[in-house]
Amino acid sequence: MQLRNLHIVEQEAAKDLHIAGGRSAPISLSFENAIALPGLINSHDHLDFDLFPRLGNRTYGSYTEWGSDIHQADKENIANVLRIPRELRIRWGIYKNLLAGVTSVIHHGSYLDTPQDLISITQTAESLHSISGEKGWRRKLLHPFRRQRQLVIHIGEGTTPACAKEISQLIRWNVFRRPLIGIHGIAMTEEQAAAFKALVWCPDSNFFLYGKTADIQQLRRRTKIVFGTDSTLTASWDIWQQLRLARQLKVVDDAALWDMVTAGPARLWGLDGCGEISEDRTADLVIAAVPPGATGWNAVFGVKPRDILLVLHQGNIRLFDGSLHDQLIKNAWPMDNFFPIAIDGKIKHIQGDLPGLMREIQTYHPDASFI
Ligand SMILES: [Zn+2]
Repeated sequence: MQLRNLHIVEQEAAKDLHIAGGRSAPISLSFENAIALPGLINSHDHLDFDLFPRLGNRTYGSYTEWGSDIHQADKENIANVLRIPRELRIRWGIYKNLLAGVTSVIHHGSYLDTPQDLISITQTAESLHSISGEKGWRRKLLHPFRRQRQLVIHIGEGTTPACAKEISQLIRWNVFRRPLIGIHGIAMTEEQAAAFKALVWCPDSNFFLYGKTADIQQLRRRTKIVFGTDSTLTASWDIWQQLRLARQLKVVDDAALWDMVTAGPARLWGLDGCGEISEDRTADLVIAAVPPGATGWNAVFGVKPRDILLVLHQGNIRLFDGSLHDQLIKNAWPMDNFFPIAIDGKIKHIQGDLPGLMREIQTYHPDASFI
């Protein structure tokens, strides 16, 4: 597949990329004022929770406070979403990510039998919810046959002393030094961070629930930081909006923030060939129109889902913008399994019957909120 005239961040001139196509015939596409990016890696989502609207009624001290509040105050709302069969909720969660150019998701929560036809879903690490929310967490942590296996857990999720205490409790119990990957870490200190292989940072969710996020500037001195969106239950569906929020905090430079959704998580989760622009292989790639007047990192972080022109996953087109329709027809690209939807006024053609999925979801929950 030839992709012509693309800008790449921190490179001067536009260039042509040759990407090994998946099943597709040779294709040549030309772009105008567009940027090529690696497919994004989202290190924290609950794919079966992405049909929830944001639920939260005040600033909370901890995740246990939030959980008991919404289970009372938003009982009906929760029941309405849970009436939608899980399989459909997962399918939507996958599309939520694809529409934003995310080609790899690390799913957190109980193991899901997920299709891998649109994006890659990784569930290789052991997933525990949290200290309070996971029965038998000590037994699971100390499992004799899992000492090498990464363990992912919400930790320090809140601002109360109890949240801080949970972190030291987990560290103290980790006698076999299992590789721990924490999520949130709002209450985490620099010293505690050293006991974790990595921390997944979810600032949008954190500010929404607790009015505060992890001290990334300090914590990154002692552990690796990767970025996660969390589900729509607590955060925006759009990872780009979240990245801009993170960028505004000015706690890391642009290259370091970008690494948290690309090369960094690719290494952490063992996603070979992901997180970088690699030619001559079946890449995960996003091509987006450069926002008017933007250059350098502003062009990267200025991207909105409406600007995305093409998403390749393992060399296969999963999404393309309406403006590429005629070029793809000329290339004899088979359109039969692509369905159009509008994002913020722009038509995107998406692999699979997304409009049909949305209609099916509405038969269970007529007021379901999508994006
Ligand atoms: Zn989680």
